[in-house]
Amino acid sequence: MSKYVFITGGVVSGIGKGIVATSLGRLLKNRGLKVFLQKFDPYINFDPGTMSPYQHGEVFVTKDGAETDLDIGHYERFIDEELTQNANITTGRVYMNVIDKERRGEYNGATVQVVPHITDEIKQKIYDASKEYEADVVITEIGGTVGDIESLPFIEAVRQFHGEHEKDDVVIIHTALVPEIPGSDELKTKPIQHSYKQLMSLGVKPNMIVTRSNSKIDQEIRKKIAMFCDVREHAIIESPNVENIYELPIILNRQGLDDYVVHKLNLDVRPAEMHEWNEMVFKQQHLSHKVKIALVGKYVQLHDAYLSVVESLKHAGLAHDSEVEIDWVNSEILNPENIDEYLKNVDGIIVPGGFGARGTNGKILASKYARENKIPFFGISMGMQTAIIDIARELAGLEGANSPEFDENTPHPIFSLMENHDGEEVLGGTLRLGDYPCQLVEGSKVHALYQETDIVERHRHRYELNNDYREVLEKAGIDFVGLSPDESLIEIFELRDYPFFVACQFHPEFKSRPNRAHPLFKGLIEASIQNKLSKQ
Ligand code: GLN
Repeated sequence: MSKYVFITGGVVSGIGKGIVATSLGRLLKNRGLKVFLQKFDPYINFDPGTMSPYQHGEVFVTKDGAETDLDIGHYERFIDEELTQNANITTGRVYMNVIDKERRGEYNGATVQVVPHITDEIKQKIYDASKEYEADVVITEIGGTVGDIESLPFIEAVRQFHGEHEKDDVVIIHTALVPEIPGSDELKTKPIQHSYKQLMSLGVKPNMIVTRSNSKIDQEIRKKIAMFCDVREHAIIESPNVENIYELPIILNRQGLDDYVVHKLNLDVRPAEMHEWNEMVFKQQHLSHKVKIALVGKYVQLHDAYLSVVESLKHAGLAHDSEVEIDWVNSEILNPENIDEYLKNVDGIIVPGGFGARGTNGKILASKYARENKIPFFGISMGMQTAIIDIARELAGLEGANSPEFDENTPHPIFSLMENHDGEEVLGGTLRLGDYPCQLVEGSKVHALYQETDIVERHRHRYELNNDYREVLEKAGIDFVGLSPDESLIEIFELRDYPFFVACQFHPEFKSRPNRAHPLFKGLIEASIQNKLSKQ
């Protein structure tokens, strides 16, 4: 039997509801509870897989291959659990399921309606999460803002869900902005009163309020919110601006967020064990070294497009007692004339994943620059492909070598689309997604980093190295040190006799954790620190 927490948002979007949800997840886990986190996104897209990073930031990928909102990445990093398809459900997916059922005749001739069919489907997703994970607590974040047309069916599902359960089975937390009037330093509670009323008019009554504001809310404001929103004063929790998001569980714990939640849910559990988390945050705030890593990509104006990569760099920095400063380098403007100016002062270079031809020349140039100047280099997915293109052209004599993704008429297609079992090329919406196994070659650098031979990593890509070119690339200095178990797919390569030049086809950033940095990111940071020290 699970208990359930719902988190809604009020006044405006983008106030860090996801981080509140995930911090609560961590706190409940620290009290010994098994927690599943899920997010309902009210948009119509089936998933964010096809959305532009400009619209949506990074697409996170779960072990079972769901392409999800980037909040799911925060969830995994905070609670250190691997989540699944049930972690992110959109309106599009809910409707698709309902329409599929209707087509299969499963509604026995009924008129299919938002209530009850859509809302039943939504509620089913909460039960699915609870059952799949045997969770003690399922935390469900409702994306968007209360009052949006799109989120109405989700709020209605919460209302029904509440009514169908015992009082101590469900807690509803409303997170909302308390704005400040510019110039007067005065915080205003009116917007929160309105969003509370709106939620009440939809039949949902929050048990707790989490406020977001630029400055601290004082006793008077707290009293006002308690009175107007009908919650206890100690059920009002502040989620302040923090420099480091990992501080938030500590701050919320001190205010009694998890205490109140377990009290309302009538759960008899120990206080949250915070020692390890506190220590981690303390270390994050007291780092001895600093390295500068260039992140070369085409979405660098929007840092959220590389969220998990940035987090992974920080985790690896922590593991090596080092702050990581990121130099954001736009691959679209890099050319042979200006590249020195952008990359000469960095200690390491990373080229993360990406899709489409735009900006690829800059990525090829960046890995060439790293190779020629012996700067530690780490390429991920597209970053691996562009690094191999450079090596193929410059070291293997394959003039014009390219991926058909960028040049259909290349004389040397060193990447190709995966083939299905009939040997036909598979087209359209056919990414290799989620967990796949990989075997490491003993004696390789990456084997020393992982300290194991059989690994599993998450994927999100369409093209694979064309095996016809394996031999010529090996002769040119590439060691293929990570392969699929049947050796048909290349997963990782290293440049031979090189301090650190490693690239992988999968996305290691999805498995890095704040207190368990990913081996490959650790390798990059370690080599970058060495590189920095060697220059001093
Ligand atoms: N565009 C490349 C592919 O589809 C790489 C994708 C990625 O970087 N995730 O294979």
